[in-house]
Amino acid sequence: MSTVAVEVVYRGIFQKTLARNIVRTIVFAARKEGKIGTAFGRYGDSPERNGIPAKQFAVVADDPEELDETLARYEPTEVDVTINVDDTLCKGVESWAWYGLQPINQLTKPDGTLIVTSWQDADSLIRDMHQKDAPIGLSIVKGTVSFSGLWVYKDDHTDVRILGTLAKVCPQLVSLESMLEAIQEQMDNETKVASAQKSFDLASVRPVEPGEGNPETPYKFELPGWKTMEEGVVIRGIEAGAGFRGGDGGYQPVRSEVFKKYSTRSMRPVINFETCIKCTLCWLQCPDTCFDVTPDGLYDANMESCCGCGVCEAVCPVPDCVTMVSEADFEDNNSQYEMWQEDKQGYNSWMTALVDKQKAETRTHGFHHVGGYAEEISEMTEA
Ligand code: SF4
Ligand code: SF4
Repeated sequence: MSTVAVEVVYRGIFQKTLARNIVRTIVFAARKEGKIGTAFGRYGDSPERNGIPAKQFAVVADDPEELDETLARYEPTEVDVTINVDDTLCKGVESWAWYGLQPINQLTKPDGTLIVTSWQDADSLIRDMHQKDAPIGLSIVKGTVSFSGLWVYKDDHTDVRILGTLAKVCPQLVSLESMLEAIQEQMDNETKVASAQKSFDLASVRPVEPGEGNPETPYKFELPGWKTMEEGVVIRGIEAGAGFRGGDGGYQPVRSEVFKKYSTRSMRPVINFETCIKCTLCWLQCPDTCFDVTPDGLYDANMESCCGCGVCEAVCPVPDCVTMVSEADFEDNNSQYEMWQEDKQGYNSWMTALVDKQKAETRTHGFHHVGGYAEEISEMTEA
């Protein structure tokens, strides 16, 4: 056997414990078969930040020399399986320590597998993923995205359901028997063992052919080389706002060309421009200076800069004027104000449908758990 590597791509802080449980259990399962392995987070993403895409790895080999060879690198250059525990990360990963946007399947080997937790179907996820020039497989673990981080651990069996699926799609890593034994030993919970077995039984792989997926080239930029480095540490500021929109009024601040932040978000705000009272609170309070002032004196959240924190929704005094909705429902970062200008009636119906859908869903964005646990809290209070 050669070395087998697995990466878990997760949202920093919110899903850290979930990612750690997955990679650790892989290594414990491998040890049951006399293999040697290690689990680690990539140093470049430390310290983690809320929602920022981050990675943990599990590398398993037959002997220590083989393992050492793989670990001599900063991180594996390719992996047999990529596990993505938040389906909105299918759009790409811009981490703290990277330079640009990395496709979710960048490290997945030819004929390797991408496992995603999602309620979306394969076609919808593939539309978000960047095209590759080699075939891979896609296996979906059906379920709500689990936010299980530093402060809370929502034990919804996402970890073991992924581990059961992993044993099916990558049998060269560990057998199902070893995986189940490791789960029992680590988690001491027979229901979790049964969940892993059930996921193993249900798991299937949908082939993703070269050329399927998002054809866009992910944005990137050149880092300075050794000869162009400046002396000392230079942190370039962003220029003072210089974005008055011609003679029509309005204001657009200058934003970073190299760190966009949008891959940080799992939800985004939609604005009801008809009910906005122009109170300025969203513009003042947005921690990322996302709002452009439009020539009408309305506020348009720039979707390349928005990290999806939900502050604008929290501070807006008008009911349903700003609503956080699932990022999975979008395929671009277009301006909502421009959409509204072009077709007000069309925009209003589209926005209302998204808001209604969100009210019926339980998706959270990790910061405020909007709608996520509210139902459970009322159930618990009644109990
Ligand atoms: S969710 Fe709202 S407050 Fe948060 S970054 Fe986006 S626009 Fe700004
Ligand atoms: S907080 Fe709400 S009402 Fe106030 S300007 Fe922003 S969108 Fe309009």
